[in-house]
Amino acid sequence: MDSQKNLDHPELSIVVPAYNEEPNIDELCSRLVAVLENTHRTFEIVIVNDGSQDNSLQKLLEWYKKYPKYFRILDFNGNFGHHNALWAGFEHVRGDVIISMDADLQNPPEELPKLLEKVDEGYDYVGSYRLGKRQDAKWRDWASKIDNKLRGKITDIRMSDQGCMLRAYRRSIIEAIIRCGDYTAFIPALAYKFASKYTEIGMRHAPRFQGETKYGLYYLLRTHFDLMTGFSLVPLQLFTLFGFTLSGFSLLLVIYMFGRRIFIGPEAEGVFTLFALMFFMVSVAIVGIGLIGEYVGRMYQILQKRPRYILKHLYEDGK
Ligand code: UDP
Ligand code: MG
Repeated sequence: MDSQKNLDHPELSIVVPAYNEEPNIDELCSRLVAVLENTHRTFEIVIVNDGSQDNSLQKLLEWYKKYPKYFRILDFNGNFGHHNALWAGFEHVRGDVIISMDADLQNPPEELPKLLEKVDEGYDYVGSYRLGKRQDAKWRDWASKIDNKLRGKITDIRMSDQGCMLRAYRRSIIEAIIRCGDYTAFIPALAYKFASKYTEIGMRHAPRFQGETKYGLYYLLRTHFDLMTGFSLVPLQLFTLFGFTLSGFSLLLVIYMFGRRIFIGPEAEGVFTLFALMFFMVSVAIVGIGLIGEYVGRMYQILQKRPRYILKHLYEDGK
């Protein structure tokens, strides 16, 4: 415990959001403690209990009682979601280097020193991508490949694996992130925006140790949509461009129809072509309204200034 003298300012902070992770907690904590003690740095492990309905909190408190100098437990009064839990952890960390990871052991804690090596080399943000075959369902693999390509094009954020939460940040990056008022922003992408020196390294990737993933296809679609509209105006601009092109074609059509009317006579047929054209135009307009709605909705959320989370209790410093 000698290495834990300077609790107010440890070298390392690990942030782990946990929601219904009861079967994983013992394994997670014991492996984390072993790895961290081995780094010979001062550290704290900040675990955020995101309103779990199982016995996650009790399990966490057992570890907290055993190592009051290692653990700090943030207990939410409800479920506020993965990113808000991470956010809360970031607002409470005291370390110089902050590492985020998931509680389900999909990113093995033993990989953590690799991140530290890169931070020591001078990178202020170190991401990771999953090595080898992904241990998730096939469709998720495909979805994330397509998403990565699209996102790189639209938002300028070039990270090969958004989904891998095992990441290390210098304190300055975390401070910049928590100053952001944006409510739905994706933390890895925000960090990318603020980093001056980014790198990523390959990580082993395991299946979930125990329990089920909390996220389905719908959630993934939402996050990816959030990313596109949260980090770029390109979707709006593309839409405007498309609008201009369409009106160009429409103008040509009008001129043609006008000429035809003068030189050949009025056309009576072609009602269904007209319908088809109309349907197409209307659907394009609806997409446009939806897209504008995304941006307006984002502004609405920012204006509301609702708290991201509500903390029921903070267990720290043995209290
Ligand atoms: N998580 C959370 N709040 C939620 C959902 C998930 O804090 O509402 C945590 C969860 O305990 C885990 C991490 O976020 O540590 C990632 O969740 P999960 O493993 O279910 O997602 P996946 O790895 O399948 O994307
Ligand atoms: Mg997981």
